[in-house]
Amino acid sequence: LPQKHASTGTSIFAIMSGLAQQHGAINLSQGFPDFQIDEQLSTFLEEGVRLGFNQYAPMPGLPMLRQAIADDFKRRYAVDIDADNEITISPGATYGIYTAFTAILQPGDEAIVFEPAYDSYIPNIEMNGARAVPIPLTAPDFTVDWNRVKAAITPRTKAIILNTPHNPTGTIWSKADWDTLAEIVRDTDIAILSDEVYEQLVYDGATHYSVLQHPELRQRSFAIYSFGKAHNNTGWKMGYCIAPPTFTQAYRRLHQFTSFSVNTPAQYAIAKHISSGTASPVRAIMEAKRNHFLSLLKNTPFTIHKPAQGSYFQLATYESISDKGDLEFAQWLTKEHGVATIPVSAFYHNRHDDKIIRFCFAKKEETLEKAIEQLSRL
Ligand code: PMP
Ligand code: GLN
Repeated sequence: LPQKHASTGTSIFAIMSGLAQQHGAINLSQGFPDFQIDEQLSTFLEEGVRLGFNQYAPMPGLPMLRQAIADDFKRRYAVDIDADNEITISPGATYGIYTAFTAILQPGDEAIVFEPAYDSYIPNIEMNGARAVPIPLTAPDFTVDWNRVKAAITPRTKAIILNTPHNPTGTIWSKADWDTLAEIVRDTDIAILSDEVYEQLVYDGATHYSVLQHPELRQRSFAIYSFGKAHNNTGWKMGYCIAPPTFTQAYRRLHQFTSFSVNTPAQYAIAKHISSGTASPVRAIMEAKRNHFLSLLKNTPFTIHKPAQGSYFQLATYESISDKGDLEFAQWLTKEHGVATIPVSAFYHNRHDDKIIRFCFAKKEETLEKAIEQLSRL
């Protein structure tokens, strides 16, 4: 075989979850909830199977699910979305991001990425023969340095990918960030890929501002979502892409020959769940977990970086515990102290290491408490 993309190595999530399993460690590394999904979601899934939603769904997704999403966005963001021509159901957001990049990029193009960046972005750009142009976010608040963005744009720049609420830093974009981005790309043909998988998970009364609420940017954007983050069912690998009709056509041209369609009974179940009006409040549940985890973390020698404004991740530094690099530290912590985390250097193309690790707090109280008990002995 030609060993394509061999340099991308193995995803940090596979590495750390594998290590956690091997050593029987508490897994606060890979981002997934360890508690059950809403009971009614299971009931709807069984109902879908029983009612015969067991064959291929239409290529763009079940109409009832696309309509449920459009209604949900109308209610929560006051935006009008054409369910037929602007929404495509995808097997997870990872797939959605890859498909959107593939629709945009040609060999030799450039795509701007903010680092720390979710680990699939750069490999996805390179899989399309394009070049990733990483721009570091400015610590400690991980804000965008807009002058660096302006300076990085060339005639070859065809995409900018952003993520808000942000994995791994937990920061969220302000309206001013969106306006600045709009101004910078105004006279270009740059497409925006807006990774909003944690859109429901914002805390302390903050609001998530979606690219769909920005009329100017919306015209040039793919917005990517994951049901896994909204309904605690990451293993269902279900998500969707919202984009203007011409972008959606380009996306579907690829989708029809890579996946064609997505798990039908799961689409039925999620449609019923969203439309029911009785889905459990994921934001309140996750905010309580964040608060609990932050107060527990004070019993350990870790330093809380900044409380997460969104997502289900909390960053911390460990300078009073060790001077190891973050990957070595995370491996040591898993093996010797039974708690797995993610080293943030994995989110930089050059493994830039500020000695920060990421905890996932989307866990049962007892999981968080057991982890902290082990960490407090450090
Ligand atoms: N983007 C970000 C920022 C993520 O954290 C994740 C992981 N959930 C994804 C995309 C991929 O989501 P999915 O599991 O639906 O593929
Ligand atoms: N998004 C999850 C995280 O950041 C992991 C998803 C994956 O394993 N690829 O931990």
